[in-house]
Amino acid sequence: MEEYGEIIKNANLKDYNTYKIGGICKYLIKPYNIECLKKLIEYLKENNLKYFILGKGSNVILPDSIFSGVVILLSNINKIEINNDIVYAEAGITLNNLINTLINNNLKGLENLYGIPGTLGGAIVQNAGANKVTISDYLVDVTYLEDGIIKTLKKEDCNFKYRSSNFKNDKNKIILSCTFKLDYANKSDMEKTIKENLLKRKNTQPLEYPNAGSVFKNLDTISAGKLIEDNNLKGYHINDAYISEKHANFIINKGNATSQDIKDLINYIKKTIKEKENIDLELEQEIINY
Ligand SMILES: Cc1cc2nc3c(=O)[nH]c(=O)nc-3n(C[C@H](O)[C@H](O)[C@H](O)COP(=O)(O)OP(=O)(O)OC[C@H]3O[C@@H](n4cnc5c(N)ncnc54)[C@H](O)[C@@H]3O)c2cc1C
Repeated sequence: MEEYGEIIKNANLKDYNTYKIGGICKYLIKPYNIECLKKLIEYLKENNLKYFILGKGSNVILPDSIFSGVVILLSNINKIEINNDIVYAEAGITLNNLINTLINNNLKGLENLYGIPGTLGGAIVQNAGANKVTISDYLVDVTYLEDGIIKTLKKEDCNFKYRSSNFKNDKNKIILSCTFKLDYANKSDMEKTIKENLLKRKNTQPLEYPNAGSVFKNLDTISAGKLIEDNNLKGYHINDAYISEKHANFIINKGNATSQDIKDLINYIKKTIKEKENIDLELEQEIINY
């Protein structure tokens, strides 16, 4: 597999997700480019090897167990090409790097998403959003690999909804790149927006501890955080997995929390809110089972 990308053997997945949980995986591979990724997937399928695509691991709850398959990181698949207001970006680029490049080219649209610690691919899967903007707002199309074929889907056909898309829970589609059409704007105005948004995040989110962002989706009528806080669950913990005192819709890892601790805490919150409010909270984060 060396010809397809950089390989790390027996990688500790704790180093590849923002909760800092997870077991060892036998092979972690960073394909050199899209062509190598395509050949790697063919090789893995031919040899009946399991694989899992990981972005920055900022929306996943990885299992504690050993993974005998291959984790694929797209961090080398990160090109950006700018043609006036049309931007091509590859899926492995981080949102922050993408937005920095856009701002340096006076291109406006995605700056409200600055601070979301994921990749473009992960953002598309989840239709990530913040401050009333979602990644799909300025999107033209998404290019992905499915069954060995590279396909392109127009935004209108991606079924983007609140934290959801066609790509969610479909492990057969690997997002390769996207095209955006952006507006022009003054760089300093966008920099000001970013500064304000980052400060807001710092003041309201427990960024000092490992976490994976909002645990549950908000409801139309009330935020999940308010619901959890109103039911006096802030500070409740199972081993080192805590409901944050700063933001009740965040679970934080205060040291040695396991995947099981986080899943048990999620179930405890769901059970409590169902019993007390008769509401079924829906997960925003994704529990991974290889
Ligand atoms: C502190 C903090 C703040 C956050 N704030 C926000 C916020 O404001 N708004 C928001 O929406 N989210 C937020 N998040 C959650 C998270 O950052 C986003 O959902 C992000 O888009 C996930 O990207 P990722 O690269 O980390 O994906 P991962 O967590 O690595 O993966 C998520 C899923 O996408 C799949 N995937 C990843 N890349 C690809 C690809 N190229 N092709 C196919 N499948 C792929 C994975 O297999 C997995 O199923 C926050 C998280 C943290 C830790």
